[in-house]
Parts: sequence; C-alpha cells; structure tokens
Amino acid sequence: MRKQIAAANWKMNGTLEQANTLLDAFASAALDVNDNRLAIFAVPAPYLILAKEKLAGNPYLQVAAQNIYSKKSGAYTGEISVEMLQSIGINYVVLGHSERREYFNESNAFLADKVNIALEYNITPIFCCGEPLNIREADTQNAYVAEQLTESLFHLSAEAIQKVVIAYEPIWAIGTGKTASSAQAQEMHAYIRSHFAAKYGADVANNISILYGGSVKANNAVELFSQPDVDGGLVGGASLIVDEFVQIINA
Ligand code: 13P
Repeated sequence: MRKQIAAANWKMNGTLEQANTLLDAFASAALDVNDNRLAIFAVPAPYLILAKEKLAGNPYLQVAAQNIYSKKSGAYTGEISVEMLQSIGINYVVLGHSERREYFNESNAFLADKVNIALEYNITPIFCCGEPLNIREADTQNAYVAEQLTESLFHLSAEAIQKVVIAYEPIWAIGTGKTASSAQAQEMHAYIRSHFAAKYGADVANNISILYGGSVKANNAVELFSQPDVDGGLVGGASLIVDEFVQIINA
C-alpha cells in the first residue's frame, strides 16, 4: 500500500547555522510518523550529511537530495552523482522540479535518464510534474502533465514505477500563496493515477504515492491531504518554519 509523505523542499535557502537549528528542532519534535507515514527533508547539498546525522534517530525521517546528474561519475564539474548520494546513505532525490525545468532547461528526456540512474542506485525519485498558468487557463493541464509523466517515466517496468513518488506541483501555486483548491488537487491526482492505471493497471497505480505541492501551509494541509488521491505534500516555504512543517507532517 502506498505511503503518506510530507516532504520538505528547502530549495536554495539557509546557512549552516540555520540548517542546524531547523534539523535539531525537527529531530526533537513530536511527529506522527511510522511505517506508513514518512517525513522527508530535501536539504541543500552541503547539508546532506549533517541532515543524515541529525535525523538518524528516527527511521521515518528521511533525507533527500534536490538534484543529481545523469552520469555515475566523471568530468562533470559541479554536479552531484548517485554514487555520492548512495555512499552517504541518501535514499531519495527530487527530480524534475519546475524550477529546474525552467531555469536549467531540464527536459522530459533528460529527466528520464536521471530517473533511471537514481533507480539503478536504489534512490527513490520524487518526480515533479505540473502545469504553468497559461496551460491551466486553457484547461489543457491533464494532457500537459500526462506528457511529462509519459516521456520521463513510461519506459519503466511495473516493478520500477512503484518505486517512484510523484509530486504534482501546479507552477501557478508555487511560492505564490495561491493553493490549488482541494477539489482541483484531487481532480488532477485522480487523473494522474488513472494515467498510470491505463499503462500499468489499477493495482500498480494504487501503490504510487502522489504528493501535492504549491503553497501548502499548516492551515490547508489537513483538507488537501484528506483527499482520497492526495498522499501528502511537497512543501517549500512552510518547511522552513518549524511549527508550520510539524503541523503539516502531523496533518
Ligand atoms: P511553496 O510551498 O513555497 O509554494 O513551494 C512548493 C514547492 O515548489 C515545493 O517543491
């Protein structure tokens, strides 16, 4: 059965001192996590080892990288490999975030290569998809998201696809304070699940966690996460505020 996940995406924020303070606070907070409810912290690369150490006491608090390169190793100055992540015990990586698609020109095909190498190293991709505002206004978001998923993921086997976590993040809701309504989120999540079901069958589709991202806050998390196809959230701004993110984890 699929897991409920509250994932923090700190993006490019925070000094070492701030990371220390946040991680200590989350490590000692009363969190409702268990085998079926995880919290995952996608921290900036310089703090990955620190986060592993600080959160080591609780197996349900996991650490994610925010990016990887598509090659195992070599002359790719500045990049981070899956081999490196595996060697420091990182089990998750965020892939295909809209910020990377937009500012670093990451294409669906390039992301397919990253998904492959992550899975080869047993690192779970948290694969992001989601449409910009003009696509939502034209009401063609389903086709847009389907294409992202098909081009980056549909080459995977039924076994492999169940190791991927999906994050639906409508770009118009990221950092804007404008959340998708719970009905809009549910509608898209159900569509995404049906898209997987059409390719892999309903049993496989029901095993895939689909997170919602885009202005998730403590005051909307309960309603969003209570939708039947919303299996948690990928949280930016609110994950940098301890009280907010603790409430989101426990929602
Ligand atoms: P916000 O929660 O700040 O809108 O960011 C969402 C996001 O992009 C998480 O990956």
